[in-house]
Amino acid sequence: MKTFIACLGTETNSFSNLPTGMQTFRDSMYYERDATQHPPNTFSLPLHVWRKKTEELQGEVVESIAAFAQPAGLTIRSVYEGLRDTILADLKAALPVDIVLLSLHGAMTAEGYDDCEGDFMGRVRDIIGPEVVLGAELDLHCSITPAMTEAADVMVLFKEYPHTDVGPRAEEVFDICARANAGEVKPVMAVHDCRMISKWRTPFEPMKTIVSEMQAAEGQGDILSVSFAHGFPWQDVACTSSKMVVVADGNTDEAAATARRFADRLWAARDDTNQDMISTDQALDLIEAGPGPVVVADVADNAGGGAPSDSTFVLRTALDRGVTGLMTCHYWDPVAVRFCEEAGEGASIDLRIGGKCGPSSGDPVDLRVTVKRILGEAQQTFGDARMPMGTAVWVTTGDVDLILTTKRTQVFHPDSMAQLGIDPTVYRGIVVKSSQHFYAGFAPIAARIEYIAGPGAIPPDFATIPFQHFTADYWPKVQDPFNEG
Ligand SMILES: [Zn+2]
Repeated sequence: MKTFIACLGTETNSFSNLPTGMQTFRDSMYYERDATQHPPNTFSLPLHVWRKKTEELQGEVVESIAAFAQPAGLTIRSVYEGLRDTILADLKAALPVDIVLLSLHGAMTAEGYDDCEGDFMGRVRDIIGPEVVLGAELDLHCSITPAMTEAADVMVLFKEYPHTDVGPRAEEVFDICARANAGEVKPVMAVHDCRMISKWRTPFEPMKTIVSEMQAAEGQGDILSVSFAHGFPWQDVACTSSKMVVVADGNTDEAAATARRFADRLWAARDDTNQDMISTDQALDLIEAGPGPVVVADVADNAGGGAPSDSTFVLRTALDRGVTGLMTCHYWDPVAVRFCEEAGEGASIDLRIGGKCGPSSGDPVDLRVTVKRILGEAQQTFGDARMPMGTAVWVTTGDVDLILTTKRTQVFHPDSMAQLGIDPTVYRGIVVKSSQHFYAGFAPIAARIEYIAGPGAIPPDFATIPFQHFTADYWPKVQDPFNEG
């Protein structure tokens, strides 16, 4: 058995003005055919799993590049085409192969390509022909398109948000593809459009139960795999929207019926899965009331959704209110980091922080700060992976502490603070620029966790996202997208 493995992806925010070029890939993840020789991260972990499982079966692995860019705006056309064509050339050189396994995001848009994954997998299929098994593991924040479904034999998505199950899902897609290669199963897929746009956080009910019901359905009858594509609300393409994706063994009708059944289940639970959000002032009220630490997600400035991670809306409000005992992080501000490095640890300087990337960043904030700690090559934990932060700097006004970084990254884990010598439990409030991936790390130390619906690059009011390319009716824009216009 010969397995070809590669990774290419990013999550494109159509409303972000940050271009996604080669530098963003190199800053985030770019391995030239040796990702499995390095510690895994979210999108290279599947390659590690696929290599191990192939080698356990005495198979041969051909590994191509692994490229993933921190989410931002449109990918530059030549960059997408260059990465894609490198993988396709490696694939041609590796022929004949038995299985192709791709680690993709599923919400990648480039200049001239609304559906990068459909384009990419279609070209892979053209090279390998109809008999070779093509499987993909995708982030659940993906837009499933007809071109993707047409090209792939098997698509398995992360089931958990935060994405804590990347490894098990890599095993799942491998096992189905290996069985298909051995002639034991004949995978067919069905997709059902849920016509809903929202965020479904799986540690909470009823999503927790729905995910376990999806897993319980696997192995029943001819069902091999059940995935829920949550969609990525800020990728503005024709196929934006959540969908159920079911893989069955040769039984298209059962796949379609199962996809429909789970779509109906989600629809019925829509009001219960809706996340409660609060205003910035309500969040600061809770922080001031205590006990702490109250961990508050500034979801609109989540770098993981393509936001700049330098917005100052919450900081400005906290300063104006005179809030004390507050940590707010991480600000992507290489210029401010540079000034701190020039001044050195212990220095007190006037520093302009954040508000630099565009209107969604707000205005910069000028503060007198003390530079407490500077750490090169800082990292934080996310699931099984260590995520790079670049150089991280801890500064304080005395009342408010901030962490500045040279890499644009969301907050995943309180060890991003501990490595700087910060005890996160001393704060009354911690404002993290993240939508949900902070949750697993912070829940053990948080007195409570809240989510702010504030301004920024990914405002969480799903009913009013100014789509231009996604024109279908969806909940919550309309109350019943199945019966209205
Ligand atoms: Zn995701």
